[in-house]
Amino acid sequence: MSVLVVGTTALDSISTPKGSNPRLLGGSASHAAVAASFFSPVHLVGVVGDDFPTRYLDLFSSRGIHLAGLERVKGGQTFHWHGEYEVNMNNRRTLNTVLGVIEHWSPKLPGAYETAPYVLLANIAPGIQHAVVDQLTRPKFVIADTMDLWLNVALKDLLRLLKRVDCLVLNDGEARQLTQDDNVVSALHRIHRLGPKYVIIKKGEHGSLLSGPDGLFVAPAYPLKKVVDPTGAGDSFVGGLLGYMAAQKSGSPASHLRRGMIHGAVVASFCCEGFGLKRTIQATRADITRRVRELEKLARF
Ligand code: AMP
Repeated sequence: MSVLVVGTTALDSISTPKGSNPRLLGGSASHAAVAASFFSPVHLVGVVGDDFPTRYLDLFSSRGIHLAGLERVKGGQTFHWHGEYEVNMNNRRTLNTVLGVIEHWSPKLPGAYETAPYVLLANIAPGIQHAVVDQLTRPKFVIADTMDLWLNVALKDLLRLLKRVDCLVLNDGEARQLTQDDNVVSALHRIHRLGPKYVIIKKGEHGSLLSGPDGLFVAPAYPLKKVVDPTGAGDSFVGGLLGYMAAQKSGSPASHLRRGMIHGAVVASFCCEGFGLKRTIQATRADITRRVRELEKLARF
């Protein structure tokens, strides 16, 4: 089955200790859609200006990412994010964000998308995530991702959204901020009480933690010798996870969450090995399978 992905389609200018690269293809939806496309057809919902390079549109299309839901605004400027990483690559600063066409955007889904079974509300303003959920008819599984910015400036909308999704994905710092609880395990319980049946906490190079009706599950991150640019790793993780789930022919969506997290972690590992999406798009399904097998061996005891 296919995956509907909504989020930012951006131009990213990124500086890391390994170099600087301007105006790369980026954005939460771009990373998530490319990651999901390893496993399932993808319908992308986003907005760009006419400064968005045609070669990036071609890249999406070449990967089976459908663009009927990607609005192009004449004379508009594409969302642009400029970020800089410290030497350890775990800490980053946003140097500048230009909202451009995102600022006044309200997504309108093409009619055929309203019945989308698997939906990823990638990181974007919670008001936009609501507008997408409003247009859906009985999806099978909806995952929402978010970031600290929305906890600061749109908490009310975010809390309302949590009652409308099956799974929330956030990082450990955001989980602490949302619950005012320093303990990640008890924070998980508090988040369930806010709505989502499943909660996944991302812990970067230390993997991720799933909580749901069957208890906890720990997914390792793929151990990398060299990280070039971690931008989009979280989006790749969640895109790979939902793409994998959508590709399974039988069983309930939730029964594929654990293996989905491992596949998401592997796609995220490729993302970290190059700037923007450069390394991700070179990976093959065989490369992914190889790393999944390695992770299986690493985590068995
Ligand atoms: P990640 O490294 O997984 O947290 O995601 C990084 C991506 O998020 C970059 O490609 C940015 O374009 C995008 N991004 C940065 N700021 C925002 C924002 N305020 N809302 C949505 N996406 C953003």
